[in-house]
Parts: sequence; structure tokens; C-alpha cells
Amino acid sequence: MERFEINILGCGSALPTTKHSLSSQVVNLRDKLFMIDCGEAAQLQFRAMKLSFSRLDHIFISHLHGDHCFGLFGLISTLGMLGRTADLDIYAQPDAEKVFRPMLNYFCSELSYRVVFHAFDPKKNTLIFEDRTLKVSTIPLRHRVPTAGFLFEEKPKSPHIVREMLDFYQIPFSQINAVKEGADFVTPDGQIVPNARLTRPAEAPKRYAYCSDTIYYEKIIPIIENVDVLYHEATFCETRSERTKQTMHSTARQAAEIARAANVKQLILGHFSARITDENLLLKEACEVFPNTILAKEGLTVTVE
Ligand SMILES: [Zn+2]
Ligand SMILES: [Zn+2]
Repeated sequence: MERFEINILGCGSALPTTKHSLSSQVVNLRDKLFMIDCGEAAQLQFRAMKLSFSRLDHIFISHLHGDHCFGLFGLISTLGMLGRTADLDIYAQPDAEKVFRPMLNYFCSELSYRVVFHAFDPKKNTLIFEDRTLKVSTIPLRHRVPTAGFLFEEKPKSPHIVREMLDFYQIPFSQINAVKEGADFVTPDGQIVPNARLTRPAEAPKRYAYCSDTIYYEKIIPIIENVDVLYHEATFCETRSERTKQTMHSTARQAAEIARAANVKQLILGHFSARITDENLLLKEACEVFPNTILAKEGLTVTVE
């Protein structure tokens, strides 16, 4: 199976503590790294998890609250000091460039590489990145400032060729790609060998949805339906539902209700308030609604399967 992992760099909210770093994750798809959010000191966690800076080319920022983007500037500066030359692409709402560009011009005027901002509209569900193997689209969320989550979707993979059949029918090298794309094989004496005999289906493409920060928001359900893994914020417990509403966050129970309604396979809770002393209470609350739930934790790697 191809590698598709989520590395949790930070899962605390609002302010850094000795217990939690702030929001940041790295999706590793076939050894290409994609960062989601970049809270303060995300680069230290990146190093601690032994991830490779040279494999990181794309950063997605959900919203412009400090706990999701204060680490960006330090990371950009560090990449310059490490001698980076490849472009760094940052996907964020339009204000991000207005905020960060003047700081980069002041502190990093001799940066050895280009920082390219790609603006998206956080109110729309749109495709913002695509390559040979992956699509990333936005998930409009509701929070105190414009915010979007991100849906990472693998593209369908080619079926696997059955090696023994290749040998048996002596299929020439020049026709292997056509067979991979679904073509039947015609032997030199005109016999048609159906594609299904030559291949076995590829694994279904995997999907990962990141939803932080947001109030309980049912409009995301059709977008994230049936994903393999959902990360949803769970800043508070139900005992603090008033505070949750005021700050436009979600409780653990609400995150689980979204997971259940969207029929996801696994839920990861994160974005924990520093006021919560026992996060197992969040887990218990969520598991009552959606049992296949885990707590995020710095250093945790979750395989999307
Ligand atoms: Zn936050
Ligand atoms: Zn926020």
C-alpha cells in the first residue's frame, strides 16, 4: 500500500503550553509532505518527528488566527537559512499575503527561494491543489474569522498487473501501460484476453478531511461523507457549551455527531483548550456517539487506511 499518513505536530488551541503545541500537521503522501496549519514553533515539532524539510513544498493555512499561522514566518526564515531553492507554495485566504509579505520583505529580503501565495475563497468548496496523485479542496467552515478546512483525496490508482499472466501470455513491454489503463490483450493468433484476467483492482483511493476551527456545522457533512479519517476540532466538553458557542468552536460530542452523520471511518479529536486537565473526558464524550475516535497528540502518526 502506498504511504498516506497524518503526522500531528500540534493539537493545542489558543496559546502554546508545555503540554501542547499549536495546530499543525503534516500529511505524508508517498513521501511528499503537505503541511496543514503552522502554529508557533511547528518547525521544532517537524524536526522532532524527523520529517524532511526538502520534501515540504506546500502549506495550507485554514485561517488567520495566530494559533494556526504564527509559525509560518519562522519556518520560512529557517528554510532560507537551510539553503532552500525550490518554490514554497502557501494556500490561504487573500489576507495572508497582505499580512506576511511585508514581514518577509523586511526580515527575509535575501531569501534564496520564492514564497508563492495562492489565495482561495474560504466560503467555497473548491479544488485548490492537484498533482498526479492528489487533489486538495477547501471545506467551508464557520468560525469567528473566514476559515476553511481541507479535504485530501488520492486520485484513483491504476490496477495491478498480475505478473504470472504477463509471463503466461508473453505480453510485450510496449503494451503493459495499455493493459494498466484497462485494455484487453490480443494474442498474435487473435485470441482476446480480457483485462480482468490480467489485472487485479487497485486499492480504493483514500480521503482525509481536516476541520478546524469551526462551530458545529452540518453543511460540511456532504463534503466529508465517507472519508477514511476525519480530524475535527473538539476545543471543549459539553459542560462548557456556552463558552464553545461564544468562541465558535465545537465540543467533543459535536465532533462525534458530525463523524457519525458523515459516516466517516475514524475520528481524530484535536485543538484542545488549555483549560482541559483531563482530555480523556473529551474522548469519553465523543466515543458515546462515535466509538472509533482517538485523541490527537504531538508526535502521533495516523495511517489513512
Ligand atoms: Zn484555533
Ligand atoms: Zn480560530
